[in-house]
Amino acid sequence: MVAQRLVRRLCPHCRERRPLPEREAQWLAAMGVAVPDDSWQAVGCERCDGLGYRGRTGVFEVWQPSADDHGLILRQADETRLRSALVERGEVLMLQDGLDKAEEGITSLREVLRMGAILPA
Ligand SMILES: [Zn+2]
Repeated sequence: MVAQRLVRRLCPHCRERRPLPEREAQWLAAMGVAVPDDSWQAVGCERCDGLGYRGRTGVFEVWQPSADDHGLILRQADETRLRSALVERGEVLMLQDGLDKAEEGITSLREVLRMGAILPA
């Protein structure tokens, strides 16, 4: 299984590290993931036409369905249940890949939030 969402890539010339906005901190806390003190923010400069972003990059997940997964799919388990099983096995899902890319400053946390990642329960 391969899934991908596109997110905007932060302009490397003007991105800035700033304290994490309260809303984003709350969102991450609600997801049960580690909340960093700061995050990369889009600013805007001449090189990105003031947008703060240049181009796009993909956020991915790749996993091999197990026999149990096939069972869940065949029994038409909802996606949340399937994803919970994946998280329990430690599969890196799109949210985590997005968070990693936000941590590195490749994209912003806001973009990860906007991509509508399907989240584990
Ligand atoms: Zn820029």
